Order: sequence, then structure tokens, then C-alpha cells
Amino acid sequence: MITILQTVLFIALCGVAGFFAFKGYRRVYRNIMLGKKANYSDNPSQRWSNLLLVALGQKKMFKNIKPAILHVFIYVGFVITQIELIEVFIDGFTGGHRRIYHAVENIPFLRGFYVFTVSFIEVASLFVLFATIAFLVRRWILRVPRLNKPELKGWPIKDATIILLAELYLLTCIFSMNTGDMALAHGEYGFLVSGWLAPLISGFNTTVIEVIEKVGWWGHIIGVLGFLVYLPYSKHLHIILAFPNTYFGRLTPKGYIPNMPEITKEIKLMMNPEAAPAEVSNEPIKFGAKDVFDLTWKNLLDAYTCTECGRCSAACPANITGKKLSPRKIMMDTRDRLEEVGRSMEANGGVWKEDGKSLIENGYISVEELRACTTCNACVEECPVMISPLEIIVQLRRNLVMEESNAPNEWTGMFANMENNGAPWQFSQQDRLNWEKA
Ligand code: SF4
Ligand code: SF4
Repeated sequence: MITILQTVLFIALCGVAGFFAFKGYRRVYRNIMLGKKANYSDNPSQRWSNLLLVALGQKKMFKNIKPAILHVFIYVGFVITQIELIEVFIDGFTGGHRRIYHAVENIPFLRGFYVFTVSFIEVASLFVLFATIAFLVRRWILRVPRLNKPELKGWPIKDATIILLAELYLLTCIFSMNTGDMALAHGEYGFLVSGWLAPLISGFNTTVIEVIEKVGWWGHIIGVLGFLVYLPYSKHLHIILAFPNTYFGRLTPKGYIPNMPEITKEIKLMMNPEAAPAEVSNEPIKFGAKDVFDLTWKNLLDAYTCTECGRCSAACPANITGKKLSPRKIMMDTRDRLEEVGRSMEANGGVWKEDGKSLIENGYISVEELRACTTCNACVEECPVMISPLEIIVQLRRNLVMEESNAPNEWTGMFANMENNGAPWQFSQQDRLNWEKA
């Protein structure tokens, strides 16, 4: 009877978690798809190579060796520890206990492989434990400057800490589950690390040890399902989105800034007026981007993929020299505005109702930040998951200048000279030879 109840509870838990997780991931997908169309399907072999090297192989992380090693411990350990979930799910759905072990216990090779795998998971978990504590120390005791900037105040720092504590919780559950089993079976399973821990609890009476094992088992599965539901609301969504984001990464040279198609079209028409289309569209032309709808889906995917690591801001010359600009904040603001738009749509039955706000100012990206960018691409070069804050900055700045005529006086004079003289200086084209005297 208890077994049936446990199975029903397990299935119900998986169903509820699956429902909420599906809602969360669907919300993220819908928000990303609010962006403009853009084609990133060229050169698939280069794209697969980027995915394997940058997302799976963590290639760009190794520019900064210490956090890279810690990150690899957590990343690899996290993936490996999930192998044990296979048996947890089999046991949960069938109401059994260590079904895989009992299926192979009389086949020496397979039994050996099973024991090796679980022991390997336990050793990997020790590395994860070490790396998680090191990350907490870096964030809360050493206070690494990159991880303690104003844009991280409030939810971002809480989110980072919640995930690190959740890691500790999951590791405790795994060791509690395995150690309980080792103590109950008098070491029969032969697991490595829990074999060292089992003597600590083997003196307790059987009921207490069973409780330790059950709390670990249920705690582990509840933690994993909770993590699945939490992920779409966290910066840790990058553990999934880093893969599509690197696949769809930009393959053009970093210094390449695409022309605006609207302007290119106008210039082509000026050069060849006969090529004018018979029908003129009444749709107002929009230059650059003012809100998230004007950015591409890839810009929005970038925003959700941002790990908030701050490598971009630490390399940004504007940020280093005390300007207000932080490329990390550009990505966080874009995501926050997108989330706000998404929530508003949900409240209005899936329809967007103008709220009088945009991504520029309104508590998001300020004009001062946009003007501080030198377009040097250092942020793009540094990003471990191939994000381009610069692409968003350029789009927003184009809108400011071309739609709002919002540019510093120095720029306005230069623009007027370019328009009238075809050059940034104050000489007419007839006086070109005077340029050398300027
Ligand atoms: S491109 Fe702009 S935001 Fe990026 S590092 Fe350079 S100055 Fe900073
Ligand atoms: S844009 Fe890239 S480098 Fe910058 S905080 Fe996000 S993930 Fe880190």
C-alpha cells in the first residue's frame, strides 16, 4: 500500500513539475520570438563547431583559468550526477528500490560497471562540492569586484546564491541517499565515498537510517524537479540556452557593423530612381531599435543566455574608465524589459498593449550608457557564450540619433558636415585641398 502511495505521489510530483516547467520554457520561447526575424542558418559546419567548442567544450572560459576550472567541475559534475537520476526515475515509476543494481547484481561485469558509475558520480560530486563552496567564498567573502557591481544588487545576486545553495542541497541529498543505502546493506553496494561515510551512521537504529535514505531520495528528486521549474526564471537558464546561442552565433568578422536596410534602399533609389517600386508602402520606416520588438530574436536569445558573469564589463574600456556603461547591464536590462512585455501580454490575453515605455530610459538603458560605447567589441570578444551587447547598443543608438535627433552637439556638427560636405570637416567639397591644412 505504501509503495503504491509513493508511486502515485512520485508521478503526481513529476506531472506538476512538468506542467510548470513547460509553462516557464514556453514563456521564454514566446518572448524570444517577439523579436524581428533574422537568418542565422548559413555555414552549419562552423555553427556545429562553435556549439561543440564554445558551449560543450567551454573554450572561451579558459581565458580566466581559476574560475574556468571551478566552472568545469560544476558543469561536468552536474551532468554526471544526473546519471543517477535514471535509476531514481525507474524506482519512482515502478515503486522499486535500486532496480538497476538488483537487475545486474549477479552479472559481475555489469555489477562492477554499476558500482564504478555510482562511485564516479560520488567523486564528481566531491569536486562539485569543492567548486560550489569556492564560488560562494569568491562571491561573499573575497567579494570579487566583477561579481559585486551595482547591476547585480537585489534579485541577480540572490539568484546566483540560491543556485549555489541548491547545489549544496542536491549534493547532501545524493550522499544521504547513498550513505543510507550503504549502511542498510552493510556495504554490499560497494560505493566509494558513501562507503567512507556509512560508518558514521551505521550505529543508528534501522528506522533512522531508512529515514536518512528516504529523505535523501525524495529530497534529490524534489530538488531536481524544482530546479527544472526554477530555471526559466533564472540566469542559470544559460546551461540550456548556451547551446542554441553558440550555434546561432554571429559568424561575420567582429568589426563588421551591418548597414541599415532602410538606408541602403534609399541610397540605391537615389542612384537609380527608375528602380523605384510601383507601389509605395505606407508603413512608417523605423530606424534602429527603441524597444525589444525592434531587436532580432537573436538579440533576445542573447539576453536570456547571459550568465551575468561580467567578463564583458571587466574588459569594457568605457566601464574601466568609470563611464556609466556596463555591457552586462545592457543584456540584463534587455531581458528585464522583455520579461515586463511578456507579463503585460499575459495579463492582456496574449495581446500587446502599448505601455508608454521602451528599452531606452524608463529605468532600463540610459542615453548616457549608449553614448559611452566606443564600439570596440571587447565585450563580444570576452563573452563565453558568444553574446553581442554591442549589437543592441548600436541598434538603440541608431534609433536615438535618427528618430529622436538625440546626439551630443559634437556629433550633430559632424553629421551636418557629412550631409553638406561629404566629410566630417567644415570645408566644402570644392575646398578639399584645404583639408590638409586643417
Ligand atoms: S563595444 Fe562598447 S560596450 Fe562593448 S566593450 Fe567596447 S565600449 Fe564596452
Ligand atoms: S554578456 Fe557574456 S560576458 Fe557579459 S555578463 Fe553576459 S555572459 Fe558574461
